[in-house]
Amino acid sequence: MLETVSPKWCSENNLIPVGRIEDRVVIACTDPDNQEVKRKAKEAFGDKVIIGIANSKSVAETIHVFELSRKAQKTSPKPLQKNDAKQVVEKLPVEAIEAGASDIHLEPLKDQMRVRFRCDGVMMPHSVIDKDKVVSVIGRLKVLAGADISEKRQHQDGRILFENPVTGQNVDMRASFYVTIFGEKLVLRVLSNKVEMLSVDQLGLTPKATESFYHDVLDTPSGIILITGPTGSGKTTTLYSCINYLNSIERSIITAEDPVEYQVEGISQCSLNIKIGVDYKSTLPAMVRQDPDVIVLGEIRDNFSAEAAIQAALTGHKVLTTFHTEDTIGSLLRLMNMNIETFLISSTLVSVLAQRLLRKICDHCSEPHMPTSGELKRIGLTKADFADTNLLSGKGCEKCHFSGYAGRIGVYELLVLNEQVKDAILRNTSSYEIRRISFQTSEMTTLLEEGLLKAASGQTTLHEVIRHLPRMEKPRPLRELRPLAGIR
Ligand SMILES: [Zn+2]
Repeated sequence: MLETVSPKWCSENNLIPVGRIEDRVVIACTDPDNQEVKRKAKEAFGDKVIIGIANSKSVAETIHVFELSRKAQKTSPKPLQKNDAKQVVEKLPVEAIEAGASDIHLEPLKDQMRVRFRCDGVMMPHSVIDKDKVVSVIGRLKVLAGADISEKRQHQDGRILFENPVTGQNVDMRASFYVTIFGEKLVLRVLSNKVEMLSVDQLGLTPKATESFYHDVLDTPSGIILITGPTGSGKTTTLYSCINYLNSIERSIITAEDPVEYQVEGISQCSLNIKIGVDYKSTLPAMVRQDPDVIVLGEIRDNFSAEAAIQAALTGHKVLTTFHTEDTIGSLLRLMNMNIETFLISSTLVSVLAQRLLRKICDHCSEPHMPTSGELKRIGLTKADFADTNLLSGKGCEKCHFSGYAGRIGVYELLVLNEQVKDAILRNTSSYEIRRISFQTSEMTTLLEEGLLKAASGQTTLHEVIRHLPRMEKPRPLRELRPLAGIR
């Protein structure tokens, strides 16, 4: 009986069918005497209806459950039974690009293979592949990726250059095969060559942080600029925004990346290739001999690359690189724990920018949101702190595949190392002390605080803020944060 109606129709009419007595449909509604509701119910379910009264809360809850089950049906995987391996392999990348996915996961389960896409940072079910086709699908992808087809017991990796038959665009994909108890799992990371390049202004830093990032960070002659965050936090986009800003005819820019993700006109980019020995160890000394002004290292991953970055900065270069830590202070501590002399850190590091990507609320289905007591408790603010803010959440619609979100925005924490912070590093003080000094002497706002500012202006939800941003200490109230961020 639920096939004939939608959750939207139920909530508009405040009624929901709850069961059947013989051939009559039982309807629960909040106002059984309403003739209009009676008419609508008969229109949808026929003349034989029994209309009963229920309180509005339970009707609303039942409609909500109905809504969730409809969403689950819509996103449940569809089998690809009729397709052969060749078709699957050809179609998957096209569909992933159309869906805006960053990764394609092919996961062997006990009796089938599950395909999921990661879109806007979240895994979404896509399809399933029958067990009898799995071997040929994986085999085909191994050939394309240049991996060893006969090797099934070792992890492998490779790359696939795929030409989109629809757009003719070349798409670079990095393949990783991982041996699991049910067979090989494959993840394809989609490295699109035509990813939109953002300017520093478009990254989503607060007005104050944008100004400081240009003036105190990018426009300084030398030193290390560190961009930090977990995988998938948008570090690469930020790195390329910086490169693009610095790229000019008067500057020589050289990179060592693993791999080159976007091609930038006018700079010398190198993709590391560990298999043939083109690694950081052999590349870094070669870079310095190339007489660069700006050196871009894809990532600091060990003592060697950290020391190389410092050496390059000491010899007057500007060094841009990324790091894998939770927040800005975490980066300082991690460098200090790598047994690097504190005076080297304090004399070369210019700034640390920590970042995350949060999902943006869908424009087509956003509605006002009242913070729940649970949310307030987890953030550590009161309802009054959110007075005159524009908190929103997405209800879910066709346009956003019923997720309530579309696209992502960056949230940042910019620490520019001033004399006091440098001194604290030099003295090798505790993390608590470095954190305290950074807050008191710079106008830094934390990831959580910037997330709250973005939620308060209706760009993302409190749910996203709580789920993704580290909470080191209680955030300051929004009225204090706005002037710090330069928001009126
Ligand atoms: Zn929507």
